[in-house]
Amino acid sequence: MGTKGREIVGVDVKKLIDLLNKAYADEWLAYYQYWVGAKVAGGRMRGIVVSELEEHAKEELGHAEKLTERIITLGGSPLLSPQDLLKQTNCGYDTPSDPDVKKLLEQNIKGEQCAIATYSKLLEFVKDKDPITYKMVLDILEDEVKHEEDLESILQDAQQRI
Ligand code: FE
Ligand code: FE
Ligand code: MG
Repeated sequence: MGTKGREIVGVDVKKLIDLLNKAYADEWLAYYQYWVGAKVAGGRMRGIVVSELEEHAKEELGHAEKLTERIITLGGSPLLSPQDLLKQTNCGYDTPSDPDVKKLLEQNIKGEQCAIATYSKLLEFVKDKDPITYKMVLDILEDEVKHEEDLESILQDAQQRI
């Protein structure tokens, strides 16, 4: 990042990179949980659930992409190993060992709720201090809010049908 670009970041850059990396770990784990969950999903409503999980997987990977670009721009390095992803995550990994779609939806809703909480905190951290990161985090947060809403409405639907 250029001199002036760095100058306008009014927070501890090292701390910011650490927080961005923790979110980056969450995104990779969310990506994998959605991706593999879509493969194993079974039962009624499988079709609609699978396509939603696949779409969210792609979007989580897009979030990881945005985060890593910002980390590198700030002079940091993204986490380089799966072990580090598991060590640094805020939201953890909820293994989709039960292929029931309702169970998968519940697990992913929990993940989205953790993501919303994480990005809200990050937003507070950079508010009025780093407008570029603020805008990126706000865009991601908007997606996570939509993800939760989408999954909750599918779950509601599934519960009404059974
Ligand atoms: Fe995400
Ligand atoms: Fe999400
Ligand atoms: Mg969706």
